[in-house]
Amino acid sequence: MTTKTTFSIPYGKQNITQDDINAVVETLQADFLTQGPKIDEFESKFADYVGSKYAVAVSNGTAALHLCALALNVNEKSKVITTPITFAASANCIKYCGGEVVFVDIDPKTSLIDLDKVEELLKSNPKGTFEGMIPVDFMGLPVNLEKARKLADEYGLWIIEDACHAPGGYFIDSQNRKQSCGNGAYADLAIFSFHPVKHIASGEGGMITTSDKALYDKLVKLRTHGITKNPELLQENLPSNGGWYYEMQELGYNYRIPDILAALGISQLSRANEMMQKRQEIAGRYDEAFKDTKICFFQYPREGKNKIFHAYHLYVIQTENRKGLYDYLRENNIFAQVHYIPVHTMPYYQSLGYKKGDFPSAESYYESCLSLPMYPTLTEEEQNFVIEKVLSFI
Ligand SMILES: *Cc1c(COP(=O)(O)O)cnc(C)c1O
Repeated sequence: MTTKTTFSIPYGKQNITQDDINAVVETLQADFLTQGPKIDEFESKFADYVGSKYAVAVSNGTAALHLCALALNVNEKSKVITTPITFAASANCIKYCGGEVVFVDIDPKTSLIDLDKVEELLKSNPKGTFEGMIPVDFMGLPVNLEKARKLADEYGLWIIEDACHAPGGYFIDSQNRKQSCGNGAYADLAIFSFHPVKHIASGEGGMITTSDKALYDKLVKLRTHGITKNPELLQENLPSNGGWYYEMQELGYNYRIPDILAALGISQLSRANEMMQKRQEIAGRYDEAFKDTKICFFQYPREGKNKIFHAYHLYVIQTENRKGLYDYLRENNIFAQVHYIPVHTMPYYQSLGYKKGDFPSAESYYESCLSLPMYPTLTEEEQNFVIEKVLSFI
């Protein structure tokens, strides 16, 4: 029997099971829709998953970035380094606090921020010029944070790891230790997003992880208006204070995630390893199918001593006729996507002085990149269809 199957295949997609639905319904019927027990549970399970000491659940990944910038006191005098190949939010969080974003070009072999170029920049400016850097585990490929930390320590920088693409990713450091993205070993803070295209979906949602207690306490406060009831943190901790007493100690926000969404996040997180396995299988099949072509270009150690474990949020190929392939796939209901238009070329960042031509590696990467469908429920049949169409076009 040959029936012509019609597919509609996006580049990324959430996977909601009956268990997920049950978890949300149970929370809807429980006492707390927000500020309840699901928040602590999500935080402690997520911290366990990535191997960090602390985790702070927030309303989305962008809020996570903003809170991190606030907690690190980013202000009008701050200059912060990041990559142009990322989602705009990685840079915008610095602008929210009035700081200056300083882009550094990518390494064409990995498409991650080029830490040698970061070093050159740091060397060619007086110490103290830069306050921090926001490396991004783009696509799910972990940045070598051990190397970033060395630079950060030498030049007095903090590090926010934007790990939105990489929960479950890791690299092996020089001491032969596995360093999971967001574990807080080298970065001061790390952030994640639970937008439906990411590994773990809660609709909207985000998480900050850290091993620093002082930053953790600050983030918890900033997430909810700068208010605390924690007796250890109160400025006026008098025996005569009633049970209602709280202090708003600094200007914070309402960046809370509701329990309803935390429950969905917890349920999704319980399948994280299984879903990661699926992503690896899909990546393996693409690798195999394209091994005799020139479209797979990333060079990084996949095995052995310096192994990097790619979390495969995205499976990116590079091809000369990118627009042709993109359009051809769309005609076949395959909705590949482009990640990313370099942030410095966005009109907003151009209005701040950046221009096309500033970061040649990022711009040439952008000219040819295309993200193929990559999500755990992509079937082998669907993937074969994608592979067949890609190969027939190129
Ligand atoms: C998704 C994403 C964000 C923002 O997360 P939201 O939850 O959508 O606010 C930030 N950085 C990167 C790299 C992302 O992919």
